[in-house]
Amino acid sequence: MPLVSMRQLLDEAAKGGYGVGAFNVNDMEQIQAIMAAAKETNSPVIIQASRGARSFAQDRFLFHLILAANELYPEIPIAMHQDHGNSFETCKSAIDLGYTSVMMDGSLKEDGKTPASFEENVAVTKRVVDFAHERGVTVEGEIGVLGGVEDGHGAGGTGLEHVTDPDQAVEFAELTGVDALAIAIGTSHGAYKFSKKPDGSVLKMDVLIAIHKRLPNTHLVMHGSSSVPKDLQDVINKYGGKLKETWGVPVEEIQLGIRNGVRKVNVDTDNRLAMTGAIRKVLWESPEKFDPRDYLKPAREAMQKVVATRMTQFGQAGHAGDYKAVSITEIAKGYKDGSLKTKPLVAK
Ligand SMILES: [Zn+2]
Repeated sequence: MPLVSMRQLLDEAAKGGYGVGAFNVNDMEQIQAIMAAAKETNSPVIIQASRGARSFAQDRFLFHLILAANELYPEIPIAMHQDHGNSFETCKSAIDLGYTSVMMDGSLKEDGKTPASFEENVAVTKRVVDFAHERGVTVEGEIGVLGGVEDGHGAGGTGLEHVTDPDQAVEFAELTGVDALAIAIGTSHGAYKFSKKPDGSVLKMDVLIAIHKRLPNTHLVMHGSSSVPKDLQDVINKYGGKLKETWGVPVEEIQLGIRNGVRKVNVDTDNRLAMTGAIRKVLWESPEKFDPRDYLKPAREAMQKVVATRMTQFGQAGHAGDYKAVSITEIAKGYKDGSLKTKPLVAK
């Protein structure tokens, strides 16, 4: 099947009542790990690349690696997504290359650091939506500002400074016509999300539930949703690493989100931890080894294990064969003739 539009993939997830993990990639081993996990669990999947990843791997290498995944696993629906586009130009470059989905993160200015005004966010996001939908490409927008920094992108802070206002989320969805909406509910990018085990005071699940009540058909996106499990931290520290104790987003909270409209769950840190731990273990236990395959293979297996676990926990496992990908040319027609709605259903 062709690369699938993220809109189709998320519409199907909404029908099935499950969430879909969006896993970040920078290299071949990570893509292979995700695809092995998708095959193992029979899951549709979102593979995403940040601006940092696109420049690290070089655009064409990364794009063709994902096309290889698509060739090798024709039975798995794959959406290819630009994570945190900082400008119209970044999103356009991904669309021109062949990505089937982009995130326009207009919550920050083009520098990727300074919070933007609501009006600025609406203007740039709408511009990307118009360009993308004409080509059948999905758009994720963001309202509110996430905490932390990843790949040089982010406003920093704890994530509680700019929690999404539900009324503004409704207005934003109406004005832009985005297909998916990332919201800020206290989550942060990176490994150091919370300095204590998160409870109701740090994760604003009530805000998420309020937004879902107002926008019952809008696909919500949770960023910074690695769980940062202690066992992965422990492997790194056991073999010479120096991670400070930290907590991520508990899987139960993500599952609560999925029951309340969350369809896309971004996970990056957990995979980074798993790979680094596996590499450290090999080099610590066998310092005589120097063939990169000796540590990249266990690293790939460690990431596959994390991804397969998340796919099962998010509920996407078993759903790869539910539907056939519609080409983005067909999707573009749907946007044009109105069969794919862009005006959100708003409840009082
Ligand atoms: Zn993010």
